[in-house]
Amino acid sequence: METHLADWLQGTRDGDEAEAILRRCVHCGFCTATCPTYQLLGDELDGPRGRIYLIKQVVEGVKPTAATQLHLDRCLTCRNCETTCPSGVEYGRLIDIGRRLVDAQVERPAAQRAVRGLLQETLTRRWVFDPAMRVGQAVREVLPATLKAKVPARRSPGVWPTKVAGDATVQRRVFLINSCVQPAMMPSIDAATARVLAAIGVNVSYAQESGCCGAIRHHLDDHNGALEDARRNVDAWFPALEAQAVEAIVVNASGCGAVVKEYGHWLADDPAYADRAQRVSESVRDLGEFLATEADRLGDLIGSSHSGKEGAGPSAARPQRIAFHPPCTLQHGQKLGGVVEALLDRLLDRLADRAATLTADPKADGLAGSPVAKRVAFSEAHLCCGSAGTYSVLQPEISGRLRDRKLANIDISQPDLILSANLGCITHLQNGTVTPIQHWVEWLDGLIQSP
Ligand code: SF4
Ligand code: SF4
Repeated sequence: METHLADWLQGTRDGDEAEAILRRCVHCGFCTATCPTYQLLGDELDGPRGRIYLIKQVVEGVKPTAATQLHLDRCLTCRNCETTCPSGVEYGRLIDIGRRLVDAQVERPAAQRAVRGLLQETLTRRWVFDPAMRVGQAVREVLPATLKAKVPARRSPGVWPTKVAGDATVQRRVFLINSCVQPAMMPSIDAATARVLAAIGVNVSYAQESGCCGAIRHHLDDHNGALEDARRNVDAWFPALEAQAVEAIVVNASGCGAVVKEYGHWLADDPAYADRAQRVSESVRDLGEFLATEADRLGDLIGSSHSGKEGAGPSAARPQRIAFHPPCTLQHGQKLGGVVEALLDRLLDRLADRAATLTADPKADGLAGSPVAKRVAFSEAHLCCGSAGTYSVLQPEISGRLRDRKLANIDISQPDLILSANLGCITHLQNGTVTPIQHWVEWLDGLIQSP
């Protein structure tokens, strides 16, 4: 798409990048078919092609309006359109630029500014958020429904591992992101991650001084604040990476992983950080990506933990029909669609093999004779569930409709457990169903830890 940049944007990084991205768009409209907001609202301006056109107008110097801002706000930044686009249009980067330019020219109403400011100041500060979440969880049952929906029931995290499998002299080490909201909302996810990694000989630690990845400020269009989060984390992580004291930064929240993988791009123009930020981005591994290379070892652990130990419980009590909801930040943002699904399928195959072996052994207990668990597929797995960071707070009506649509599709497969890979999706979806929803690593940890 030919674009004539406004004078004030020429020679700027935003202008050059927007022009290069816009040039790739041939306006074919394939992307509209997979855009959740277009599916719901049916308005071209609430689909990727329409938003791209709005951003083109802005970079060409047309003054944006509150309506322009609203159409960009309604975008979930799910990046489904990027996955669909045959021309390689980097929509995610373009909408970031578009939002920055629009917000600089269109002042938001006071009420919107207040909500955004409150989210930014509370969600990114653990000393504020953690105690508030603890109080919220303690009184959760008497909270109004809208507030209760944002406060997940407390799950016991279990114990953090004190021992790591294997030879202590050759143990591996990774950093986990010290995420801003996850440890308070669902500490069970980090604890399960640490136990699973310990079981395969990998030590987990947090880097001192690391903190929120910047996703929240980024979602709320506080560009400079997000860059400061990124710089702080680069300072916290890089020395250990450089010294090869850690092999990777493992991220168990796909939303955070997608953001940290962008640090190299975010800080490309900062001479003090560009190289280190790029190295940090290259060192980030989603937990599924990291464990995919350990599938055989994990399979052995599952097999041995179910090898007919005394007291082994009947697996009929375990979930038999498991659905995996892939977050957009995993499948579209990080382009890791199918990675976790493949790992889960391999592990379920190992469980099935083990059950078959034990069934053939008349002395065996544990899995013997029990039904075989399987992963069930469902329609529209590529579509966003409506969580999308702070979107569920800022656009509750669209967010709720997307959640209901997602759960309706999942329910057709009648799962007795839903797994996902991002705290936001887990909390958001759980508000609409009684079927339990967990992070997939919690399920895996349960298989390894309990006979
Ligand atoms: S973003 Fe891609 S799929 Fe959408 S209109 Fe442009 S070229 Fe076509
Ligand atoms: S990022 Fe998602 S919601 Fe936004 S335009 Fe693309 S497909 Fe639609």
